Amino acid sequence: MAFEGLSERLQATMQKIRGKGKVTEADIKVMMREVRLALLEADVNFKVVKQFVATVSERALGSDVMTSLTPGQQVIKIVQDELTQLMGGENTAINMSKKPPTVVMMVGLQGAGKTTTAGKLALLMRKKFNKRPLLVACDIYRPAAIQQLQTVGKQIDIPVFTLGDQVKPDEITRQALQHAREEHYDFVIIDTAGRLHIDEALMNELVDVKEVSKPDEIMLVVDAMTGQDAVNVAESFDTQLDVTGVTLTKLDGDTRGGAALSIRSVTQKPIKFVGMSEKMDGLEPFHPERMASRILG
Ligand code: GDP
Repeated sequence: MAFEGLSERLQATMQKIRGKGKVTEADIKVMMREVRLALLEADVNFKVVKQFVATVSERALGSDVMTSLTPGQQVIKIVQDELTQLMGGENTAINMSKKPPTVVMMVGLQGAGKTTTAGKLALLMRKKFNKRPLLVACDIYRPAAIQQLQTVGKQIDIPVFTLGDQVKPDEITRQALQHAREEHYDFVIIDTAGRLHIDEALMNELVDVKEVSKPDEIMLVVDAMTGQDAVNVAESFDTQLDVTGVTLTKLDGDTRGGAALSIRSVTQKPIKFVGMSEKMDGLEPFHPERMASRILG
């Protein structure tokens, strides 16, 4: 399960302080040392850890806690608050255009879960907002990519726009948007190509698709299992494309949690959704406060 190690360690640490009728500076120091190690072991970015520890320590040593009748519980609440803040505070909704169609461009490395998430998002938008989504196949390099998107589309009964693999992605996008307007699709999801590593050709192509589609949302899809790498990838994509939201996939796996806890702080971009299974209904809006509660038990 995700966050298992982190959760166990933080809960053990909090347990020690929970019932305390008096919390000393030394108690806070010991606790913060344990919190720091737990976060580092969960692969949270070291700068993020440093800042987190400083903020929590400062608040925990404040007079609110020291004069409280239940200081142990106050300290735990501070940790929970700050974990929530670290992940963005509250849920950030997907951007919607006032004038249809809303355009979402999915970007990310190969294998991160773009195609799967494109399908999941289409299904979610139809179910929750009554949208008429159109999926657009812009990954013209990976031989089975178009077919994979078509399989996904068939599974959830959502049409896929494709011009095969001989037309350039920006041209596919242009025609797809025209098709969407003519046929009154109000939610267009563009599945772009990924690579195993970021390269210039890929980024240039994505910039072209961005220019043509003027997306309301550039959704970066990252694999939570890749920890700090996910954060580095997010920074690179963000620098080039100015992403507007992040979907963290494979949170149903046994990720240590580093990506979930670092991405927001490092990139300042919100995690909007999390992938919780391989199935088409396995996409959920991300709620930082719920995730923090889950971690602290
Ligand atoms: P793409 O190359 O970025 O388009 O990635 P795909 O959509 O093909 O996904 C790569 C693999 O990850 C596939 O086997 C998906 O089923 C799997 N996958 C994607 N999202 C999730 C998720 O949230 N949970 C799990 N367990 N698997 C996922």
